[in-house]
Amino acid sequence: MRFDFYLFDLDGTLLHLGNIGAYVDQILIETFIRLEASNPPKKNEKYKLWSPEEDFFDVLEEWGVKNPQNFWKVFDEIDFKLRKKLIENEQAFLYKDVYNILEKIYHHKYNKKLAIVSNTAYYIVEFILKKFGIINFFHETFSLGYYNNDQELAKPSPKGVLTILDKFKYDPKESKAILVGDSKFDIIAAKKADIYACLIRREINNQNKNYNKWDIQPDFVIKGLDELVHL
Ligand SMILES: [Mg+2]
Repeated sequence: MRFDFYLFDLDGTLLHLGNIGAYVDQILIETFIRLEASNPPKKNEKYKLWSPEEDFFDVLEEWGVKNPQNFWKVFDEIDFKLRKKLIENEQAFLYKDVYNILEKIYHHKYNKKLAIVSNTAYYIVEFILKKFGIINFFHETFSLGYYNNDQELAKPSPKGVLTILDKFKYDPKESKAILVGDSKFDIIAAKKADIYACLIRREINNQNKNYNKWDIQPDFVIKGLDELVHL
């Protein structure tokens, strides 16, 4: 465990949410209904919402969304409602290796620091961390939803990672930091922030199937968090 700062993505990395692509799609469909979108996006257009090349409001206008300024607020509300139901039904849960590794890092003799960097709304992240009894392991958390449409802070932007590193007073000459995440966005955010990137492939899914063709490559690829002990 040679890193000083361990940053973790939440969904799909610590929290099992099933097929995340399908989960997000389900939230999107409900959000478009709630916002009375007259021309909701087709499957291959939804990526535009997260694309740095697209203007978020233009995209929503194109899809005929009324009150686009409410988009993420409504999205988060639906996400929260759905998650609570999935947790209740034990369809969403903490992966088995999570508690153990967090505890190990937290209690390590070399005073290591842990953080969450998530694209999910802050109140949902807080709920999850409390619900599964892991909130005290994290020294810092970066999540979204504090401001209207703070999408530009979302991964793949490195802003969340950089904010955390700043709080940790990270100095690359003196310390090492790593971000562990299950998606391409995590890897891009970590590399743009110039820290180590670790892709976790708990199972091979559509999101990570062709990871070796990504433009930006992870420094490590693992199948479970227990492997972090050897990195
Ligand atoms: Mg994730």
